[in-house]
Amino acid sequence: MNPADNVAVVANDGGLREGTTVDGLALRHHVPQAHKVALAPLSAGDPVRRYGAVIGYAKESIPAGGLVNETNLELPHAPSLESLTFAGRAAKAVEPLNGYAFRGFRNDDGSVGTRNILAITNTVQCVSGIVGHAVERIRCELLPRFPHVDDVVALDHTYGCGVAIDAPGAAIPIRTLHNIARNPNFAGLTMVVSLGCEKLQPSMLFPETFDTLPDISKPASDPAGLVILQDESHVGFEAMIGSILQTSERQLTLLDRRRRKRCPASDLVVGLQCGGSDSLSGVTANPALGHAADLVVRAGGTVIFSEVTEVRDGIDQLIRRAASPEIAAELARQMEWYDHYLSCGQSDRSANTTPGNKKGGLSNVVEKALGSIAKSGSMPINGVIPPGERAQGSGLLFAATPASDFICGTLQLAAGMNVHVFTTGQGTPYGLAEVPVVKVASRSELAKRWHDLMDIDAGRIVSAGQTIESMGQSMFEKMLAIASGERTCAERLGLHNQLALFNPGPVT
Ligand code: CA
Repeated sequence: MNPADNVAVVANDGGLREGTTVDGLALRHHVPQAHKVALAPLSAGDPVRRYGAVIGYAKESIPAGGLVNETNLELPHAPSLESLTFAGRAAKAVEPLNGYAFRGFRNDDGSVGTRNILAITNTVQCVSGIVGHAVERIRCELLPRFPHVDDVVALDHTYGCGVAIDAPGAAIPIRTLHNIARNPNFAGLTMVVSLGCEKLQPSMLFPETFDTLPDISKPASDPAGLVILQDESHVGFEAMIGSILQTSERQLTLLDRRRRKRCPASDLVVGLQCGGSDSLSGVTANPALGHAADLVVRAGGTVIFSEVTEVRDGIDQLIRRAASPEIAAELARQMEWYDHYLSCGQSDRSANTTPGNKKGGLSNVVEKALGSIAKSGSMPINGVIPPGERAQGSGLLFAATPASDFICGTLQLAAGMNVHVFTTGQGTPYGLAEVPVVKVASRSELAKRWHDLMDIDAGRIVSAGQTIESMGQSMFEKMLAIASGERTCAERLGLHNQLALFNPGPVT
């Protein structure tokens, strides 16, 4: 990956057998695909370099051609946040890229949806069963009458009551729910179902819409799209379902008037994530996605990358790319917050890697982080989004989220993404109902085996000699096609995950 490296990664499907000679180097063991082999003899304590960076120290002597993995690699300390300095160099100039567009749904606030969805959020999980039932009825009985509406989705979650609602940590799940309801795919027409007695009152979740405590003597179906189940007019279950259906019919009528129009690529808000990563993620899928991210930024669009524990070990690289000293300081502040959060749980960033990561050749979180950061491309970092906040401005933004796929995706929805791109090495059927998720395989073997689950085979960079740049270009074009309405594999199969809120606050 870099001339300074003293390990290399076996890219071949099925790995390479013991005794295979590559460029004069004889392998001492069978080396599985995506695993590392020492290019030169290493003594105990020697730094092991990949991507030109130290990913760890040899625990014992390792011969040239020997396997390097988590058993013989010592984890280095995370870069100290105090020692990080912002060079203050002028940010890299962004060369504009013109002429790319997609067909999206323009909203009154200027944002652009890539899908036309009726969303129904709630203020507390108590109402989930009722909302779930209502959504099924809406889908069967109402949706066929509104052909320009793509779907109806319950924004189900486990928050709203039984929590310390005034604790500092509560701000994150509350603003996440608030901002998810404002995702561009919902056109500002998200419905709200409340129970009535919960801690998270509609006026707390949407202070701009509901400025007072709910008046349970008001009609059950509120003009602002609010239905309160404890409303006195609700006599029994069918009355509640009737109120939700009545309100949803009005919202569907409004949504059905939306039409796709030509929008410049600058209206893309692309959320990037990886999950089930392997060692080839940092060789194929993530660098190609990084090239695609550069194209989106050059076209004036917004790219959001995330996953604090997967950038923590490369924070020095990110600080150098900050567009201003304020952004550099905010990056460091978000890392510090997360270090503290993990230490309160008696843990640290080394808790990130999974058994599948290790099986896929990722020895530790440092190696994982360096591969993960590759998907952010090379553009200046133009802003930092605290967890649950909506993105401000355009260009490359860092959203400070956990690396957990479901939590990161939920927070990127709140940030306002309208396309999600997800890279994987081991494979995951991850999907979201709210925003299209383009799935990228890091290996051709996975892309072939999961032929109907993977949208892009980035393994072709290894298996077919395709360049990172040409793969990145086709990823960018795929984003525009998906944004224009082409369905993803997960959409065709109807696969999606539940939303998962990040709640660092206490439960009562
Ligand atoms: Ca992830």
